[in-house]
Amino acid sequence: MAKERVHKQIRLKGIGVSPGIAMGTAEVYRNELEDITVYPVEKEAVADEIRRYVEALESVESHLRESAEIVTEKIGTTEAGIFDAQIALLSGTLFRKTVPAAVKRDLINVEAVLQNSLRDFLNAPPGPQGEEIKKRQQDIKDIHRQIIHLLVKKNPQCIILYDTVILTAREFLPSDMTLFPPGQVLGLIAEMGGMNSHTAIMARSSAIPAVMGVEKASSFITNGDFLIIDGSTGDVVVNPDSDDQEIYNEKIARARAIRDRMESLIDLESETTDRRAVTLMANISRFEDVGQARRNGAVGIGLFRTEIPFLMGEHFIAEEEQYQLYRKVITGMEAYPVTIRTLDLGGDKVLTQDLFNREANPFLGLRSIRFSLRYPEIFTTQLRAILRASAFGRVKLLFPMVTTLDELATITEIYRQVREEVGRQGVKPLVEPLLGVMIEVPSSALMAESFLDRVDFASIGTNDLIQYTLAVDRGNRLVSELYSPYNPAVLKLIDMTVKAGKSTGKEVSVCGEMASDPVSAILLLGMGINILSMEPRYLLRIKEVVISISKDAAARAARKALSMNTAREVEEFIIERFALPRETASSE
Ligand code: PEP
Ligand code: MG
Repeated sequence: MAKERVHKQIRLKGIGVSPGIAMGTAEVYRNELEDITVYPVEKEAVADEIRRYVEALESVESHLRESAEIVTEKIGTTEAGIFDAQIALLSGTLFRKTVPAAVKRDLINVEAVLQNSLRDFLNAPPGPQGEEIKKRQQDIKDIHRQIIHLLVKKNPQCIILYDTVILTAREFLPSDMTLFPPGQVLGLIAEMGGMNSHTAIMARSSAIPAVMGVEKASSFITNGDFLIIDGSTGDVVVNPDSDDQEIYNEKIARARAIRDRMESLIDLESETTDRRAVTLMANISRFEDVGQARRNGAVGIGLFRTEIPFLMGEHFIAEEEQYQLYRKVITGMEAYPVTIRTLDLGGDKVLTQDLFNREANPFLGLRSIRFSLRYPEIFTTQLRAILRASAFGRVKLLFPMVTTLDELATITEIYRQVREEVGRQGVKPLVEPLLGVMIEVPSSALMAESFLDRVDFASIGTNDLIQYTLAVDRGNRLVSELYSPYNPAVLKLIDMTVKAGKSTGKEVSVCGEMASDPVSAILLLGMGINILSMEPRYLLRIKEVVISISKDAAARAARKALSMNTAREVEEFIIERFALPRETASSE
């Protein structure tokens, strides 16, 4: 007698990497490499084996080129850069030299060599575990898998789905994302992957809710299960009962109501109840973010993280290409100012070619402006591209993680030389670019007045300022409890910087995540910050805070907070004083 399957309700938890709630039927997606048979290859047959491999490499390359085209059309050019990066890896030493050499040396089939090479790569001693490094590892794994699948004749061109489904897998690799038929994938669940994995980025850009890092998802979920996933909280409910379905239907309705309420704020002035204007700007990483920034009412770009296109494309972008990119962003923002930050590479943001030059303490090493000053060619190329683009709008130049005044003197001297050189070549900025430093380390906050004497503005990068003040790695979950924006030591450094802005008459803004957190935003406004820059999706949430408080009340509260001793005290105090809803006070 056939046993009837019991659809048991199970709750799973992962990391919400692409917001939104999806409800639908599960489909388990199998993209794993199965064990490869190892067989000997005669010496005389080696040339044929290598020919077979080279043909596979060429097919994978042409498939990647097609993927880049599809993604450019369906998602965007920056995401398509993921596949350009994979093409670049394909022509590197590993695939072009090391693999064929191993076939010759070990006299075994090439699939087996690739399997060994992948195993060696995955088992290599861990270096820095930043998100960018994880992305590169995912790419290398993806390419191995694509070549092996092709060699064992398993390469799919497109998956066929018979319904709209929520796909679940151990891991989604970037190439998988091009195989999904449009409109049929309602959501994604994966055991591996995090917030900044390439697939997470592609899911967000495609507006597909996704939860990753769900342990043992494939053991709990089978084809045909009914699923609910929440891409903000990371919750997954397998076979929800009617109560759960009702709860999530309500959540969907509430989210829609919040969206409507936020949309009604778009045209309102951003000013406090006592009529003090607060300038809300957007942080962007790609040209594609400009649309969302404009739609949410940003009156400028407060931070353009220019290293991200380099990382997604996985190569140094030439001057002309950089110029085109900056020009598109500047013209996209029309008359509004665009703050272009020079490369912030290093730390966890490393290019593949640097993966093997691992530093013992990358966040304290050759990071950010130190990297640019170490490679002046790269720095001056970027400055030239920015200056050429400044002919099309109002540009502000921002230098990240400056720690000493000597460094600043070198930066401004290099800038002066490049400015002169492009001037001689006929470049005429529409408005002379303003120069600014990021305040991201205690040394620059303590010396803020001297820094501001030498530049036009400063922008506080609170993400790093917290990390370096509290000596807590911003990406390390083991110590995340210590990473608090409300820590009075952090607040004191911010207050000191704001005061330096007042005494020098120079503008001080905030572009770290504190700008988008309601509790922090109140503290910042209270300390005297009038310009906040944040991810575009948070602009309206912060506008709602701005229009509902008075600047004087915020100033009184900030003064009191500055005399407190713990982060918890500060947070509780602000939540209560301004009656902020607890669940949204400092989260999504
Ligand atoms: C910061 O550190 O606050 C910042 C805005 O820079 P990033 O997050 O890119 O390091
Ligand atoms: Mg920073």
